[in-house]
Amino acid sequence: MRTNMGFIAAPGKVLLSEASHRQCRWIESREGFGVYVICGKRIREGSSFCVGHHDVVWGNRRDEQRPRPPVFRAA
Ligand SMILES: [Zn+2]
Repeated sequence: MRTNMGFIAAPGKVLLSEASHRQCRWIESREGFGVYVICGKRIREGSSFCVGHHDVVWGNRRDEQRPRPPVFRAA
């Protein structure tokens, strides 16, 4: 079964259904039902995204990785 339903990506574009494990999964656009064009650059080590998109996804979330301060209940 073809997952891209015959859709052919424009030159230089990578379809999510055709991406390898080493390609950035950042979705650039939706071309049709279940058909996505992705970034497709080489991924950052240990990430699902390239360096630029890894930073977009994770770069501003450092605070969430810290333990949360204890919550003091009033009663
Ligand atoms: Zn990317």
